[in-house]
Amino acid sequence: MEKKRTINFGAGPAKLPQSVLFEAQRELLDYNGIGISVLEMSHRSLDFAKIINTTENLLRELLNIPENYKVMFLHGGGTAQFSAVPLNLIGLKEDRCADYLVTGTWSAKAAKEAEKYGKVNVIHPKLGSYTKIPDPGSWTPNPSASYVYYCCNETVHGVEFDFVPDAGGVVLVSDMSSNFLSRPVDVSQFGLIFAGAQKNVGCAGVTVVVVREDLLGKARKECPIVLDYEVQAGNGSLYNTPPCFSIYIMSLVLEWIKNNGGTAAMERLNKQKSNMIYDIINGSGGFYVCPVDMSCRSRMNIPFRIGGKEGDEALEKKFLDGASKLGMISLKGHRSVGGIRVSLYNAVTMEDVGVLAAYMKEFLQEHQ
Ligand code: PLP
Repeated sequence: MEKKRTINFGAGPAKLPQSVLFEAQRELLDYNGIGISVLEMSHRSLDFAKIINTTENLLRELLNIPENYKVMFLHGGGTAQFSAVPLNLIGLKEDRCADYLVTGTWSAKAAKEAEKYGKVNVIHPKLGSYTKIPDPGSWTPNPSASYVYYCCNETVHGVEFDFVPDAGGVVLVSDMSSNFLSRPVDVSQFGLIFAGAQKNVGCAGVTVVVVREDLLGKARKECPIVLDYEVQAGNGSLYNTPPCFSIYIMSLVLEWIKNNGGTAAMERLNKQKSNMIYDIINGSGGFYVCPVDMSCRSRMNIPFRIGGKEGDEALEKKFLDGASKLGMISLKGHRSVGGIRVSLYNAVTMEDVGVLAAYMKEFLQEHQ
């Protein structure tokens, strides 16, 4: 009997393009004919130098990264960057303060961590729930802030910025972990961008940091050496052993993005995929409810409740059970918000989304 196809709508670690997995599998025991696996390769070898250089070059090409920016591949996930950002940048100005636009769980965590190292001005504190972002004209960046921080896509709440906030000349820092390379970005508008790989650009273990050169060398003295951007950038991410295999997987994913039309093509596809699901939610007469304001609904993570605003837990369980029988997994909402969450990263295909859309329509007809 043919094995049922599994469709992974997980929020991360998430689906990888099939061709990337095939390639990695093909090369697992014998990378490029050298007789060993990337897993066994020295990070100081010429072969690994080629891998890390290719990864950086592909990233520079896909994002059109200006020459005065450094690219690093670091350990510790997005969470390590919650500490690294203030440790390296909060001292840029005398007041040692930073503005944090808090629009969900991840920016809230980042702001809390930054409080250990300086003063944090929270622009958008939690109201009842995270369903909005501040209106562009509703806040003025504090001119004495060392940087303005925001999370471009809040993975748990499905809140995404579709514009770059005006930081009023203050250095802008963004966590792009869950929408990195899902659309074009003008890197020159940012002082620093970081992104964990395990959603759109690879597997867990590596975090990309893109930082403007003039921001290096300002770390607080207690900054752990592995988090010091000047040290890591100065050593080409090889100050200590980097996450070699995760970097290799990233190179395959970046190649795949390039071969599939780059970030502009990803953006077109991601809009089509997310519209397919939002159209069903919007046309369901209140049966499916997405709490997020229309202006900032994420194309990457779509949270919704079933059976009304508060959600009918029995119905939601039935939905998840039915989806699972059809091979669709990881649709359960984050434990802090409940309900359903559909994650539609780059590797999720139109066909995958079509299967879910058909199921949502059927479920609506049966239970409305
Ligand atoms: N930032 C965002 C937007 C995330 O979605 C996550 C994790 O899902 C993180 C940061 C934390 O990443 P990590 O688990 O790699 O530390």
